[in-house]
Amino acid sequence: MCPVDDASNGVDGHAHTNGHTNGTTNGANAAPETNGFVAVETKQNPHIQTSNPYQPVGDFLSNISRFKIIESTLREGEQFANAYFSTEVKIQIAKALDDFGVDYIELTSPCASEQSRLDCEAICKLGLKAKILTHVRCTMEDARVAVETGVDGVDVVIGTSSYLREHSHGKDMTYIKNAAIEVIKFVKSKGLEIRFSSEDSFRSDLVDLLTLYSAVDKVGVHRVGIADTVGCATPRQVYDLVRTLRGVVSCDIETHFHNDTGCAIANAYVALEAGATHIDTSVIGIGERNGITPLGGLMARMIVADREYVTKKYNLKKLKEIEDLVADNVEINIPFNNYITGFSAFTHKAGIHAKAILNNPSTYEIINPADFGMTRYVHFASRLTGWNAIKSRVEQLGLEMTDAQIKVCTTKIKAMADVRPIAIDDADSIIRTFHGNLHRKEDVPLLPGMTEEEKKLFEMKQAELSGEREKRSLDEAADAQAEVPSGKKTKTGVAA
Ligand SMILES: [Zn+2]
Repeated sequence: MCPVDDASNGVDGHAHTNGHTNGTTNGANAAPETNGFVAVETKQNPHIQTSNPYQPVGDFLSNISRFKIIESTLREGEQFANAYFSTEVKIQIAKALDDFGVDYIELTSPCASEQSRLDCEAICKLGLKAKILTHVRCTMEDARVAVETGVDGVDVVIGTSSYLREHSHGKDMTYIKNAAIEVIKFVKSKGLEIRFSSEDSFRSDLVDLLTLYSAVDKVGVHRVGIADTVGCATPRQVYDLVRTLRGVVSCDIETHFHNDTGCAIANAYVALEAGATHIDTSVIGIGERNGITPLGGLMARMIVADREYVTKKYNLKKLKEIEDLVADNVEINIPFNNYITGFSAFTHKAGIHAKAILNNPSTYEIINPADFGMTRYVHFASRLTGWNAIKSRVEQLGLEMTDAQIKVCTTKIKAMADVRPIAIDDADSIIRTFHGNLHRKEDVPLLPGMTEEEKKLFEMKQAELSGEREKRSLDEAADAQAEVPSGKKTKTGVAA
């Protein structure tokens, strides 16, 4: 619960502790121009999918198309190892989340420190559209402080697992129930929203849990919360518990999933299918240990399930900006494989993928990058490139070549990529020089400054590749002549 104090973390103390520096390449799609990873922009998708085979099966329980987000970067996220948010930064993050359109913003307990209390008051005064919540222990002392901060609602939590009852607060279930009812009645008397959550719900006794939730539902709690505090629950367990709880309470159900075993997004999704109404998230998933369901990852999951709901409700083009803001402040880089904003999230490399993507991006893409203001790239200067990708680059450079010439040029780029890593400029100069050589009496070297050894290797690789290419066209010609069913024809040169 408690944020770490100033002396033990912060900019100086813990910078780069994860081996990350927060350099200029932080975030997404920023890297395609770096050496060895070069890419070309494609046309935008002319065939945006409005329906897809992965759409959820509608049933009366499912809230896939009407879920709400409780954004907890300023509470759970503050418990991340590298997080220290100043008042100014908290306000910046709260405003950005509000612009994005999250339904709720959850803040660290005002009882954690005097500064936390002041920050909570300051954020409540911003007049944001999102409702402001604060997260406190299930005690009257904490509840009294919380209701004075100006929040719209109070989230109370207490450990219900035998581990926490024995080793943390030492209270029995009757005590927990009575304390919960007293706090709920008090917060409601102040006209505020109240959520009651157990901690470590999946390792709590099911009968205890349901008895407790049923009791708080009867006194009019607005939401009950289920928390996979240790990140151990599987999607099937989540579905079962939420489905059972849905039959016991009539209030809303909030869920909170840690990601220790990699199920945080899947668990959030099945919770909604089973009747949960609210999902806790944080930006890039930051939180205790390796964090919780990430806001961006949840958006990736949900846009595939209900594009209309997600695109109308959330300002998706703000996602990268918010992630960069938070990443900068907690001094981490956005992981390369991050949902949507990871630098390779929309980059296609293998020749066969590139060809299909250039024709119709939906072939190898389930999410349209343009929905998030992101760009699709086709990686064209590697040994895996294909002539369709090179053709698209030739057109972008405004050069004219026949398909046969482009195929020869592609072989040269592939061969060169075997000799040394080539950057986007190198690939472009190979294309330009090759194009120039078509009209010159004497060939100019494709890349300047090659050593004798590199030249030899290049010739060798080129010969190998040309051999493969000739063999492939011979095979194709033979296949075309042979009267065999097309499914049985020799497949050559298929990329993974
Ligand atoms: Zn948590």
